Amino acid sequence: MAYKPKKKMMTKKHLILFKYGGNAMTNQLLKKQVVKSMCDLKEKGYQVVIVHGGGPFIKQTLEEVNIESEFIDGQRKTTPKAMEYVEMALKGKVNGSLISIINAMGHKAVGLSGKDGQTVTAKKRLHKHTKNEKTEMVDLGQVGDAESVDTSLIKLLLKNDFIPVITCIASDKKGNDYNINGDLFAGHIAGALSAEQYIILTDVDGLMLDKDNPASIINELKVAKINYLKEINCIQGGMIPKIDSCEIALKKGAKLARIINGTVPEQIVSLFENKEVGTAISV
Ligand code: ADP
Ligand code: MG
Repeated sequence: MAYKPKKKMMTKKHLILFKYGGNAMTNQLLKKQVVKSMCDLKEKGYQVVIVHGGGPFIKQTLEEVNIESEFIDGQRKTTPKAMEYVEMALKGKVNGSLISIINAMGHKAVGLSGKDGQTVTAKKRLHKHTKNEKTEMVDLGQVGDAESVDTSLIKLLLKNDFIPVITCIASDKKGNDYNINGDLFAGHIAGALSAEQYIILTDVDGLMLDKDNPASIINELKVAKINYLKEINCIQGGMIPKIDSCEIALKKGAKLARIINGTVPEQIVSLFENKEVGTAISV
C-alpha cells in the first residue's frame, strides 16, 4: 500500500476557543449536544474556552419588561436601563444556563464577563451614520468595542482545569459598562490567547460565495481576500462581524479561524478528526 502522509494532528493541550451564540443557541436540546461536543474535546485534553453572545435572549428580556429599542444600522442603541437588562440576560440567563449544563456534564465551568479580572477593557463605540451622502456621528449609548485583553484570569482557570465561559460585556477604565458585539469580542480574546483554533458556531455551514447557495461554500480563505469578498457584496448582515472577528483573531495571534454550523453538532466532532468542515480562514 502506498504511504500516505498523515495530516498534521492537533496536539493535546492546544487551546480551542468557541464563539457560541445567537441562533445556534435557542434550541435547548441542540444546546446540550453542542456543549457535550465541547466537553468531549476537553476530555480529549484540549483546553476549551467558550465565548458567547445571545441576541435573541436580549430581545426577549427587553420585550418582557417593555423596553423598546432603537436600531441604528443594525445596532441596538443601549440606554442605561436597557444595559441593566442586557447584563441580566447575558450574564444571568444565558451564561448561567451554560454553566449549569457544563457542570451537569461533570466539568467545572466558570462564568465570566469581560469585566471579571479586568479580562477585557472596553471603549465606547463611536458610530458613523451616513444618510443622503452626509456622515454624522451617532450616539449608540452603551455600545462598545474591546480595547485590550488581559488573559491572566483565563489562563489561571485553564491551568486549574476549569472551562471559562465568557459573555460579551466589559467596562472601560472608569467602570462604565458596555455591550460588545459577541463575534468581535470573541475574536479579540481568541487573538490574545493565540488560540490554535478559533471556531465560530453559526446557523449556516460556513461562508458562501453566494449566501443563498450552500454549494458555493468557501472551504479555505486567506485574510487578504476578505476585502475583495466585501467589495463584491458576498459578505452581508450577521456574517460581517464574524469575518471581521476572524481577521482580528488571526492578526492578534490565533493560528486558524473557522466558521462552522452550530446547529449540526457533529461538525464540531469531525473537525478534530481532521475532516474538512466549514470555512477555514488563515493569514
Ligand atoms: P448568529 O446568530 O450565529 O450570529 P447571524 O444571523 O448573525 O448568525 O449571521 C449568520 C448569517 O449571515 C447567516 O444565517 C446568513 O444569513 C448570513 N450571511 C450573510 N452573508 C453570508 C455569506 N456570504 N455566507 C453565509 N452566510 C451569510
Ligand atoms: Mg449574529
